[in-house]
Amino acid sequence: MHTCRLCNRSFSTELQLELHRDTCGEDELLCGECGEQFSEAAATRDGWHYSCPNDDCDGGGLKEDLYRVSDARLAEQR
Ligand SMILES: [Zn+2]
Ligand SMILES: [Zn+2]
Repeated sequence: MHTCRLCNRSFSTELQLELHRDTCGEDELLCGECGEQFSEAAATRDGWHYSCPNDDCDGGGLKEDLYRVSDARLAEQR
């Protein structure tokens, strides 16, 4: 079993994991308010207004409270 360290998804072969890594995080958003990670589709309905899907959290706004996991990963590497 090969598990992606970023999203914890599991794959049966290393190749599947490698392929997944190229796209992992691209449509995933992270909320800076509550730390929740979710798909972009869960955070927006019209592709314009974004808000955290967590009921207990009032975080919202792309690049305000919500940012892309892929961006966060790049920031970590610096
Ligand atoms: Zn992943
Ligand atoms: Zn949140």
